[in-house]
Amino acid sequence: MSELLMEPSLKAELMSTSRITDIKTDEVREMVLYIDEPSFRYREGQSIAVLVPGKDEFGNSDHKRRYSIVKGIQHPSKEGTELTILVRRCFYIDDFNGERYPGRASNYLCDAKVGDAISITGPYKSPFTIPGDKNANILMIGTGTGIAPFRSFIEHIYKQKGGWDGQVRLFYGAKTGLDLLYMNDENNDLANYYHEETFHAFNALTNRPLSGEEKALENSLKNNLQEAWDLIQQANTYVFISGLEKVAPSLDKVMIEAAGSEEAWKALKQKIKAGNRWSKLLYN
Ligand SMILES: Cc1cc2nc3c(=O)[nH]c(=O)nc-3n(C[C@H](O)[C@H](O)[C@H](O)COP(=O)(O)OP(=O)(O)OC[C@H]3O[C@@H](n4cnc5c(N)ncnc54)[C@H](O)[C@@H]3O)c2cc1C
Repeated sequence: MSELLMEPSLKAELMSTSRITDIKTDEVREMVLYIDEPSFRYREGQSIAVLVPGKDEFGNSDHKRRYSIVKGIQHPSKEGTELTILVRRCFYIDDFNGERYPGRASNYLCDAKVGDAISITGPYKSPFTIPGDKNANILMIGTGTGIAPFRSFIEHIYKQKGGWDGQVRLFYGAKTGLDLLYMNDENNDLANYYHEETFHAFNALTNRPLSGEEKALENSLKNNLQEAWDLIQQANTYVFISGLEKVAPSLDKVMIEAAGSEEAWKALKQKIKAGNRWSKLLYN
């Protein structure tokens, strides 16, 4: 029996959907789902899975994809929960015929209309756990929709935990327009934490259509290399990486330069991993 059939699913209603990136770049939508289930509980940084109905052209029906929860609130007048997710409309090029195909789940979600019922499962655990010691440093490195688990994580440590004593740094790369994902005060986003003494965000955008968000991340790291390098070498620094798969080689590239050699960076990375201070959430 497939995982899809075994796991109980919930119905969510699409409350709102809006494009938050400009027309010249990748489409990213902020979507709010209402889950009419009082027992539904989630924690910051967790994800849900969306189940796509119907079959693809090869007859496959089990299509299930994960989306990070950006934030969740109790509905003001009902008993259920409103969850916000960010979805990038995804396409892939077939190696055989060179044709462009739409990703199933992301296109299903981006095309959904307010009021539509969407089946979900979860929530699922986040790879990013809050260090036990408030003096620990946290280095967050990500691109595009990978900001989602970081947004809720930062909100959690500053708002609900009452602050953080270690240094928290966010290095973030995005295409034009994606800055709206977190620079917008009205959405109660990261800008709200800019006054925190221990929090600092370094972002870089790319305006070139052919240049990816991982290039922007490289720039944000290179422009502030000393800061990133000093922090990553400390024995109490936790490294969190989130976003597209391309983030990993981009980070390696910049860090090899900072370390002076591939071997030196590999050795440092191994030390961080051995101390359980390296966590990642990477996807296509
Ligand atoms: C824990 C977790 C959290 C995530 N959070 C988010 C999030 O917050 N926001 C977000 O937008 N995404 C997120 N993702 C990614 C998301 O789950 C999906 O992978 C993404 O939306 C693409 O799914 P899709 O069904 O649209 O595309 P699919 O149809 O699954 O295709 C996706 C990719 O698979 C490859 N592919 C598939 N079929 C073929 C084929 N026939 N030939 C060649 N290549 C192929 C391509 O590289 C393509 O880009 C997350 C992933 C994980 C694991």
